[in-house]
Amino acid sequence: MPDRNTSGLIIHEERCAGCELCLPACPFGALSMRGGTASVDQSVCTLCGACVKQCPAGAIELIRTSRMAVNPGDWSGVWVYAETVDDAFHPVVFELLGAGARLARSRGAVLTAVVLADMDESRLSPLFLHGADRVILAGHPELSLYRDEPFARILVRLVRTYRPEIVLAGATTVGRALIPRAATMLGTGLTADCTGLEIDPETGNLLQTRPAFGGNIMARIVCAGHRPQMATVRPRVMEAAPIDPGRAGGEIVRFEPGREDLASRLVIDSVLRRQEGGLNLNASDVIIAGGRGLGGPDSFRMLADLAEVLGGTVAASRAAVDAGWISADRQIGQTGKTVAPKLYVAVGISGAVQHVVGMSSAETVIAIDKNPSAPIFGTADIGLVGDLFEIVPGLIRRYREGTFA
Ligand SMILES: Cc1cc2nc3c(=O)[nH]c(=O)nc-3n(C[C@H](O)[C@H](O)[C@H](O)COP(=O)(O)OP(=O)(O)OC[C@H]3O[C@@H](n4cnc5c(N)ncnc54)[C@H](O)[C@@H]3O)c2cc1C
Repeated sequence: MPDRNTSGLIIHEERCAGCELCLPACPFGALSMRGGTASVDQSVCTLCGACVKQCPAGAIELIRTSRMAVNPGDWSGVWVYAETVDDAFHPVVFELLGAGARLARSRGAVLTAVVLADMDESRLSPLFLHGADRVILAGHPELSLYRDEPFARILVRLVRTYRPEIVLAGATTVGRALIPRAATMLGTGLTADCTGLEIDPETGNLLQTRPAFGGNIMARIVCAGHRPQMATVRPRVMEAAPIDPGRAGGEIVRFEPGREDLASRLVIDSVLRRQEGGLNLNASDVIIAGGRGLGGPDSFRMLADLAEVLGGTVAASRAAVDAGWISADRQIGQTGKTVAPKLYVAVGISGAVQHVVGMSSAETVIAIDKNPSAPIFGTADIGLVGDLFEIVPGLIRRYREGTFA
């Protein structure tokens, strides 16, 4: 029988009437009769609790304890991993500082940005301007290129030293490699691709919201028993912290990585490929996205024409990408890119939730669809119901003629 400090099922034999109603209630066959009373095989029981409701005598008790692996009171502060790209901070860092500042305020805690890079103190002011109270700088020439082992080792060492309560990072290529590795080394939980972060006013735990089951539900995840609570957030999901010109500086804590911190089994031969004028959907103020309603690859030429007159970039739904009509790097949505342009024109896209999560932060959304009940109209600021093959050429013509009022 479990004691009251461990989770388990207790049968109070003195109350059990031997009615056997609990036996068929157990989906796992963990219950049997022994000596006229019910008995549970703890190794089979999954603590689902189905039997508890069936017992008319109240003889079955379920004990669920949340075992704390750490004392949460020993951990304090909010950290943002300040990823660098080409000697500058990744834009997601400023978005995380916005979210982190809110969380730190709720906890009455310090907001710290953590920099692992070949960087010196003179370059840290953007972090302070965007709200960091403190920066921990692990600066070293060998940290100019990301490598899993040294980056995770140093981050983990810093976490163990300073014990932050919350660690946030961008769900970028680097963040997705670094943070799961660090979380595993720390033996704590990680929620990837969060779309919402709040503090539970009762427990002080971080409530991490993210889409689950293919985006059909929003799950709220809590890491109650371990610290730090770690979360990644995709770029452009949260709003960047506004610049506060009054805070150009702040506390800087230097960490000098030693040889043992920097050791790596990887030899990196890095080739940076920068396409002149290459695709950068995140930088586009205007995005014209096409979906299955376009009917084939040729119609994307029409969208390119609309993009040209509006000074925009062509993107697509996953249905269009999966059909092979356009390349995958233009896909918007849960398994594609998240964008927040000034104008998003959705053409022949029904507005599935997996698409909408990638574009709902656009300032203005125009939807063109022949189905007036298409869910995209629920997201759109302006909806044009009709045949896209009439509407889009008409728009292009009127823009070219300059007859658009
Ligand atoms: C785990 C998972 C991840 C996913 N990730 C993504 C993702 O990242 N991005 C994404 O986009 N999807 C994603 N999806 C797929 C998503 O669920 C939808 O299937 C997809 O977005 C549908 O694409 P669509 O709107 O182009 O096609 P449809 O849903 O088929 O919509 C086509 C629309 O075109 C309209 N139409 C047709 N002909 C015309 C016409 N002549 N004129 C005007 N309108 C017309 C129709 O009325 C319809 O509304 C994901 C799904 C899953 C399960």
